[in-house]
Amino acid sequence: MQQPISITSNGTWQVPDYPSVACIKGDGIGSDIWPNARIVLDAAVNAVFGEEKKIDWVPVPAGAASFKETGHWLPDQTLETIRNLKVAIKGPLATPVGKGIRSLNVRLRKELDLYACIRPVKYYPPVPSPVKHPEKVDMVVFRENTEDVYAGMEWEAGTPECRQLMHMLKTRLNCNLPESSALGLKPMSPENTRRLVKKACEYALENNRKSVTLMHKGNIMKFTEGGFRKWGYEAAFDCFGDRMITEDVLYARYEGVVPDGHVVVRDRIADMVFADVLLKPDQYDIIACPNLNGDYISDALAAQVGGLGMAPGANIGDACAVFEATHGTAPDIAGKDAANPCSLMLSGAMMLDHLGWHAAGDAVRRAVGRALAGGQVTSDLADQIPGAKAVSCSGFSRIVMENL
Ligand code: NAD
Repeated sequence: MQQPISITSNGTWQVPDYPSVACIKGDGIGSDIWPNARIVLDAAVNAVFGEEKKIDWVPVPAGAASFKETGHWLPDQTLETIRNLKVAIKGPLATPVGKGIRSLNVRLRKELDLYACIRPVKYYPPVPSPVKHPEKVDMVVFRENTEDVYAGMEWEAGTPECRQLMHMLKTRLNCNLPESSALGLKPMSPENTRRLVKKACEYALENNRKSVTLMHKGNIMKFTEGGFRKWGYEAAFDCFGDRMITEDVLYARYEGVVPDGHVVVRDRIADMVFADVLLKPDQYDIIACPNLNGDYISDALAAQVGGLGMAPGANIGDACAVFEATHGTAPDIAGKDAANPCSLMLSGAMMLDHLGWHAAGDAVRRAVGRALAGGQVTSDLADQIPGAKAVSCSGFSRIVMENL
């Protein structure tokens, strides 16, 4: 029987012992990685909790397979089931090609108001990395998911709408613009910034992290990105009071050592963050940022520790959470049992954490780490690791199981 997760009026997630979780297999390599990830997640829960806890998986259609069966890429019923069950996990979805059709991932985020895109970035040896000390990277990026230039408010050059907006900007706001311009908006609001930064600080406190860095370009875009910085600081201190400290206080009162149970809130200009994460990655912990900065920094950090085949991700709101592989459908290797299942397995570990089943999440991360260290890995990694042996997706998953 389905046991939905519930959320109390004060925002606490209540998880039954046999929670129902929606799952979307995904397109392309989804058919390779999802069945293997699912077996590993079930085995980890069983290894930690025995028969006491178990996930009741509820498959829901989305993507190309759903379109073939139902004529809909993302049926309303799928959204309704995720809304009811509150937690979902998904493989990659092909973006439908055609005018007016939106990315399914964007639609999922919008419809379910999944405002925080969370990407933990951590190195698993011996995954090939382009930097000398990838092991110094252990960060979690909290990217605002709903606004900024990503909100989709833009107008093609020369269209009547664009000309109308241009006219208003020129005549009423004195903006000097070339007539040939396309135009776009960059909306950023205090309420959406606050909820994102609150989530990042909450995570830092719960996971004993030392700092939350607000990453922005407020030196140039004073009201939008500068607003993100200002509202971010306000949210941290309004929501968590004296558990948060500024850098000034850290050095004046604590000689630069963050006291237990506290988190430093600081801010850095985005371009400096890109340099810093390469030069001194151990100085970064949680990064909270607007949508566009977040898009860039999460993929750059993923590349620093071995690429998207490894990187887990989640999109979380106050009412629903969707965990997902961060790579695409990899049509070139789909159906060949060759894909790397780590991204989806590690996203599943994040999901277990979210359910409050941290020991099972840790078990998955540990087992994936040991399996990789054993040197039998999928070919995307084996090709780049001297002495490594290439195994299939299911073969690698069996090794993960043996390490649970
Ligand atoms: P892709 O990530 O699917 O593939 C890029 C390259 O990486 C390919 O060579 C592929 O073989 C390889 N690769 C990706 N994941 C891998 C894995 N787990 N193991 C081994 N190799 C892997 O990117 P793309 O080709 O640009 O996109 C293909 C489709 O996926 C498009 O329809 C795109 O819209 C969609 N997409 C979906 C998501 C998502 O659902 N989150 C993300 C990105 C792209």
